[in-house]
Amino acid sequence: MSVPVDSPWAFVAVGRPVRGEFTYQVPEALRGKLSPGQRVRIPFGRQSTLGFFLAPAGPPSAEVVKRLKSIERPLEESAALTPELVELLRFAASHYRYPLGEAMRGAMPPGLSQNDDGKEAKADLVWWAAAVPEANLASLARAPSQHAALSYLLAVGGRALVEELVHAIPGAKATLKVLAQKGLVTLDSQEVVHGVRAGLEQGRPAQLTPEQHTAVAGLTTALDAGGFSTFLLHGVTGSGKTEVYLRLVERALEQGKGSLILVPEIALTPQLVGRFKSRFGPQIAVLHSALKDRERLRHWQLLRKGTVKIAVGVRSAIWAPVGNLGVVVVDEEHDPSFKQDEKLKYQARDLAVVRAQKAGALVVLGSATPSLETLENVRRGRYRTLTLERRVDDRPMPTIALVDLRVARPRLQDEEPPVLSAALKEAIGQTLGRGQQVILFLNRRGHSTFVLCEVCGESLKCQDCDVCLTHHLSARRLVCHYCNRQQFLPDNCPKCSGPLLQLGVGTERVEAEVAASFPGARVGRLDRDAASNNERLTELLASFARREIDVLVGTQMVAKGHDFPGVTLVCVVLADSSLALPDFRAAERTFHLLTQVAGRAGRGKDPGRVLVQSYHPESEAVARMLHSDFAGFAQNELRRRKALGWPPYTRMAMVRIEGDDASVTAATARRLGQAMAQRLPPSSAGVRLLGPAPAPLARIKGKTRWQIVLKGPTHAALAGPLDAAEALLPELPASVKVVLDVDPGAML
Ligand code: ADP
Ligand code: ZN
Ligand code: ZN
Repeated sequence: MSVPVDSPWAFVAVGRPVRGEFTYQVPEALRGKLSPGQRVRIPFGRQSTLGFFLAPAGPPSAEVVKRLKSIERPLEESAALTPELVELLRFAASHYRYPLGEAMRGAMPPGLSQNDDGKEAKADLVWWAAAVPEANLASLARAPSQHAALSYLLAVGGRALVEELVHAIPGAKATLKVLAQKGLVTLDSQEVVHGVRAGLEQGRPAQLTPEQHTAVAGLTTALDAGGFSTFLLHGVTGSGKTEVYLRLVERALEQGKGSLILVPEIALTPQLVGRFKSRFGPQIAVLHSALKDRERLRHWQLLRKGTVKIAVGVRSAIWAPVGNLGVVVVDEEHDPSFKQDEKLKYQARDLAVVRAQKAGALVVLGSATPSLETLENVRRGRYRTLTLERRVDDRPMPTIALVDLRVARPRLQDEEPPVLSAALKEAIGQTLGRGQQVILFLNRRGHSTFVLCEVCGESLKCQDCDVCLTHHLSARRLVCHYCNRQQFLPDNCPKCSGPLLQLGVGTERVEAEVAASFPGARVGRLDRDAASNNERLTELLASFARREIDVLVGTQMVAKGHDFPGVTLVCVVLADSSLALPDFRAAERTFHLLTQVAGRAGRGKDPGRVLVQSYHPESEAVARMLHSDFAGFAQNELRRRKALGWPPYTRMAMVRIEGDDASVTAATARRLGQAMAQRLPPSSAGVRLLGPAPAPLARIKGKTRWQIVLKGPTHAALAGPLDAAEALLPELPASVKVVLDVDPGAML
């Protein structure tokens, strides 16, 4: 029986950490006038709080009716959330086991208040920069930033949006003015009316590569046909995936359809945003964490009104109110950053598929190293694949060579093998000699990653965490990478006064060794210490792009989608550093990272090479990477996952238990474990409960950590034990924090 829209009752989500949907009375004047997702003020407990109208409700039972409270008033004239987003949020709250009202609150732009419904967007001016025909670079040899700006302009055909240049080369605005004063560049403006494409096709390659052409044709056919479908765009690094996205989004726009593009991290990949900006100008909204609240709200409103139809953003942009959705793109779909690890613990790639399904849209998951989850979906025929096997302009893939560290010590009696082997040093020297750039990758920050007593063997650990302290030479301190506790490096062992050894190489040490071996080289470091905020990060990337840095040493931050044509050598300082982590995805992550970082080499006119230092070159991840054998790696790893019952062959959920008191925490974990075990389906259902057990990192920030892992063939099969855990939450000691994590990203 369907419920009339003007029903006197309604389902409401309460914007508080309470689970479930609640029934409220609807005052006469509001009946039939509220829409799904609309914010309302409601009494809750003794207070009045924020709620979201969900849907009209049928008559509740007689005794409930007596206790029902009434919605006070709407907080906005029309719903900020679209009905489709409300549906998606309901799915996410139930799938990830998180309170719906909290989930809805978290999806809203900050500072959305009722009387701030935005003004109409005005027409914007866009500024163009164009190189004059006689402009040449020779005169700018002594002015690197001007040289960089002009070479960028020349590289893209002489004319580009100022905004694009500023994305690619921060600070370029001022530089362009100087170039204009010198008469090398002209600047002109153009008015852009929203919704009208005004000659923004600059930088649009006249010709697609044959593979791009096939991919675009396949995708536009599916788009034109309409309806939901999912494609994997499997393209090697440098194959021009972005151009495929751009063409598809163009097509959607022509049909009046909206597009949503999710990227791992905007600050790390300014080039991709720059390309979208220059293609679509002010018709896109860029959503990222560095936006000011007011800006974010403005973008939200432009999207909600349909004035702007394209949204580009990080994982939280999955909630962007793009209307009439035609295309959803998830770039670098394998990237772990699509999983949110607090509050509503959603996987934005997975939600992208759900959202597209609800909206009848096309999804493109793009990557050079697709996740095993996605590959399995391809194998089952749920997703179709399009491949780009060649780089643009037939540029060669970089050559990859191994440096076996077990045999690379100059003399066997040397206690430590070198950080940079002779082979690495030689290659770096040659590359620098040719005026080209080098990237050195090591996924560990700091100088030495542990400090050990030579006499008693004690290693220096954090007082509050179960981990070793990292020595940071630049900060002159020992730092805990989990709680950031810092202390001075003692001269001797605190236990026995023995001498201390610094072991385990980090990026600072690599940077120092490069600087010592190549005194003339300009060395930079890209990790969370050196790029502690977005400005420093942007500046570092920009100076590398301007070729003011010759050698860039860094963590996984250097492996992202950067397109630096000057880089012809990539060195992996230690390929094995992340292989030993107690996580079933360790091999996959390692393979992805190594392949991605290798893909930074040889993207310009000069071919690239990759040198990989390893102690364990026969490990699957390293061996397959050395042979660029993605298919072999994936096949083998999938076989292993199947044998061991890990995703993508099972569904997983994790209960994480954390508390100050070790015994209370352990007791709580056991209580949860028992309650969950009682609700396990019969053993034939294939659901397994692992634990409770202390977490791999059993103590962080002074808190004791336990975990319970649940595996089963489907999510539905996990429901019983998870319901039991959820039901127990209100009864557990307040001092213990318990969180449910469905489809966990990391096992630590
Ligand atoms: P991927 O994301 O697959 O690693 P990109 O999208 O970054 O590759 O493209 C690599 C480079 O090739 C970029 O500099 C891009 O501008 C250029 N490019 C892409 N498609 C074409 C094309 N059809 N013709 C010329 N250059 C192209
Ligand atoms: Zn000692
Ligand atoms: Zn610590």
